[in-house]
Amino acid sequence: MPIIINKEECEGCGTCTTICPKSAIVLEEVDGSVVAEVVSELCDECCECIEFCLRSAIKQVLWSSWEHGLLIMNEGRKHE
Ligand code: SF4
Ligand code: SF4
Repeated sequence: MPIIINKEECEGCGTCTTICPKSAIVLEEVDGSVVAEVVSELCDECCECIEFCLRSAIKQVLWSSWEHGLLIMNEGRKHE
């Protein structure tokens, strides 16, 4: 089940790029802001990055053929 990053929540801190054991997350510039992106070919879906994101911007999802939408399978908790 793919890992996605909500670019509206991501603040580009880079924590996830550091902890990913597969080096599957890169930082990129989108519309003048630095945000994280998952390189799906490298990601083994271990989900470690999900708990480390302070913004809860990383989620594991399943494409729902029923609704043609994204179904959230796994997401981090907000770190207050
Ligand atoms: S840890 Fe979260 S906020 Fe920081 S770069 Fe990764 S996805 Fe963005
Ligand atoms: S799920 Fe695992 S391999 Fe994939 S980006 Fe997150 S930490 Fe890296």
